[in-house]
Amino acid sequence: MKNIFEKSNGAQCTVFTDEALNVDFIDKKFLRTSATNLPEVSELELLRHYKELSDENFCIEKGFYPLGSCTMKYNPKVNEVLAALDGFNIHPAFADEDAQGSLELMYKLSEALKNITGMDGVTLQPAAGAHGELTGMMIIKKYFETKGEKRHKVIIPDSAHGTNPASAHMCGFDIINVKSNAKGQVDVEDLKNILDSDVAAIMMTNPNTLGLFEENVLEISNLMHENGSLLYYDGANFNAIMGHTNPKLMGFDVVHINLHKTFSTPHAGGGPGAGPVCVREELKEFLPVPVIEYDGKKYTRQYNLAHSIGKVRAYSGSFAIMVRAYAYILMMGSNLKHTSEDAVLNANYLKEKLKGAYLLPYDEPCMHEFVLSGEIQKEKYGVTTLHIAKRLMDGNTHPPTVYFPMIVHEALMIEPTESETKERLDEFVDTMLKIAKEAETNPEMVIDAPHTTPVKKIDEVLAARQPNLSFKQ
Ligand SMILES: *Cc1c(COP(=O)(O)O)cnc(C)c1O
Repeated sequence: MKNIFEKSNGAQCTVFTDEALNVDFIDKKFLRTSATNLPEVSELELLRHYKELSDENFCIEKGFYPLGSCTMKYNPKVNEVLAALDGFNIHPAFADEDAQGSLELMYKLSEALKNITGMDGVTLQPAAGAHGELTGMMIIKKYFETKGEKRHKVIIPDSAHGTNPASAHMCGFDIINVKSNAKGQVDVEDLKNILDSDVAAIMMTNPNTLGLFEENVLEISNLMHENGSLLYYDGANFNAIMGHTNPKLMGFDVVHINLHKTFSTPHAGGGPGAGPVCVREELKEFLPVPVIEYDGKKYTRQYNLAHSIGKVRAYSGSFAIMVRAYAYILMMGSNLKHTSEDAVLNANYLKEKLKGAYLLPYDEPCMHEFVLSGEIQKEKYGVTTLHIAKRLMDGNTHPPTVYFPMIVHEALMIEPTESETKERLDEFVDTMLKIAKEAETNPEMVIDAPHTTPVKKIDEVLAARQPNLSFKQ
């Protein structure tokens, strides 16, 4: 082993094996004869630097992470080992015959997703949920173009995730909002008024972003189909329904799933994701190419779809995430059903424990998440939802999603997931109740939070405009 930097102060971090330094094949005139003089610290100092950074960060391994709509569940560590297996480490431009194992995994994952969604065709290409939405809306657009129908409107509930209108708009559709009713669900009467022959589709999330199951979904899908329109299912939050129902049974035609939420890939911070899109039989011809096929002997990538929208991503998509998702699905098997049951039970447990201390605008049984409001604390004590979120960080808890969905003022959107023990849930309840009490008796304590984190209240504008990215203080 050699240190090619030859620092005299003993700082040494970059070490190469003799094999790596065996550079006989490079012409001598290209080889360096003196040290590079690049800055370097010792291996120990480097480790300390990264350890310090990771200690300052928050993650699911450190504490409760009830970030609504993001499904921050536990991602089994064995998935990391599997995704790193040598055999899966192939060049993205592989030939089919050299990558039968990887293609088999993609094929079998697609079959599993068909099973879980009830759909007939799958693309694994999209890189994230929003990318899946874009892909799905491109499919819907091409479907109507091929039929010679000029439908240019897409209906979206006012509770929808912001990516829904953005994706439909990027495809050139005009966005029409449909109101929510007093129960927080799509207002069917309003929908009937909006529906006309220009409507291509409705994009729905079910359970919706309030964590409520849309009771009228069958009536809505009948209305849409009678109108010649399609239904898009935002399946980013699939965690509530696995094994109990599926988008096909609800009457949907196109679905995207966030593998990085429901199917256990570490996410957030802009990390890699995967948003496969599943479609009904009559839309299969519009899927991106290639699709993976199996003739009983060999797995192949097929490009011969009559009306394909083309490629939406280079190569095969986020392959390592597919490995994690497939491993998770195999590991869970029919227990996926219990996963959803536990996720729903945990959310309802927290909702019932907290609804006395915070306003619960839609007091209904919830699915995987529920939305509280900090309105009482704001009106009475000047303590806003943002203050409550920051104070939670002092209790070793990641804040919930805040100020979303937009139809709830001072929203706190809480999704515990199935991974947590009752003890953790109770700890969170205690912290939330303590904060509600503090807002009443010592509001400054909440308003000035966080008090115990490495970085206190930050100037968010300055942090975005002049980020300090150096490790030197
Ligand atoms: C997370 C989420 C999305 C977007 O998914 P990304 O992978 O972040 O693009 C869309 N819809 C809902 C309901 C979501 O929760």
